[in-house]
Amino acid sequence: MIDLRSDTVTTPDETMREAAATADVGDDVYGEDPTVNELEARVAERLGTEAALYCPTGTMANQIGARVHTERGQEVLADRQSHVVKYELGGLAQHSGLQVRMLEADRGVPTAQQVAESVVTEDLHRAGTGLLCLENTHNARGGLAIEPDKIAAAAETAQDRDVPVHLDGARLFNAATALDVPASNIVAPVDSVMCSLSKGLGAPVGSMLAGTEAFIADARRTRKLFGGGMRQAGIIAGPALEALENVADLERDHEHAQLLAHGLDALAGFDVQNPETNIVLADVSETGLEPDAVLERCQDEGVLATPFGPTTIRFCTHRDISRADIEQALERLSGRFD
Ligand SMILES: *Cc1c(COP(=O)(O)O)cnc(C)c1O
Repeated sequence: MIDLRSDTVTTPDETMREAAATADVGDDVYGEDPTVNELEARVAERLGTEAALYCPTGTMANQIGARVHTERGQEVLADRQSHVVKYELGGLAQHSGLQVRMLEADRGVPTAQQVAESVVTEDLHRAGTGLLCLENTHNARGGLAIEPDKIAAAAETAQDRDVPVHLDGARLFNAATALDVPASNIVAPVDSVMCSLSKGLGAPVGSMLAGTEAFIADARRTRKLFGGGMRQAGIIAGPALEALENVADLERDHEHAQLLAHGLDALAGFDVQNPETNIVLADVSETGLEPDAVLERCQDEGVLATPFGPTTIRFCTHRDISRADIEQALERLSGRFD
């Protein structure tokens, strides 16, 4: 099978397994796991934040971020296609009593004007805006790499109105790679950021939440509250440290996505969005088939992708996929939708 469902399917390589086997460990809830401490310090340094926190998943890190920034009953501003809105089981409401005010944002990033018009001041009737949540790369809109100035414009407008800003940067390093800027430039304007180590970077487990010392101190308590206080987590933080060495390889995944998009677009009935990073969205309505039927036909040919909307399927390149795999996938699908 050529598995293009997600970059989360990457498996740990020998270096990571070795790092897991040999990691120095301690009880991380007591702050005594040297490998976790090193990971948190390295990530904070790389992102240009005061501190960082190792979390089991990106979803948990986003949810902790939202909880720490807000008070129960407030509103969160977010693009209607964002991960926190679509794919986190309504966690903002479930964990933190928050209401989402969804924005229809071009490329998934609201303009300064949209933010200014959407921030609500608390009064007798209104809940008040407690958080602006941004996303980069923007997953559901096709892995869009959002430029630092767009992030900054939205963030500064919110912060001017005393609304903090969280960035869901599950694929932050993909964005930085595509835009050829340091990740710290993208992160600089926001109050907190989540980035995943378990997607394109290949770690088996974990995402980071980063921000100020005070924010991370609160986040550490909230992680415990959410059941994410881990003990000898160096076993998984060791491979996660190795994953940080893989950032330079993301460029190759992006090249593979270009190659894949080009080939898929040539299939009958496929309309493919030009990828900016490692996510390729194909509108398959012109095949005359439902997305699930298209996926089934792909699977029959040994190619896996994922349903992504009423007419769309998603392919995702990653470090376990070679150029030969992409060529092979295209060869197998060639002529299958004529
Ligand atoms: C994958 C993803 C997450 C969640 O990460 P998990 O580790 O799967 O919980 C959050 N935001 C975006 C944009 C993602 O793509």
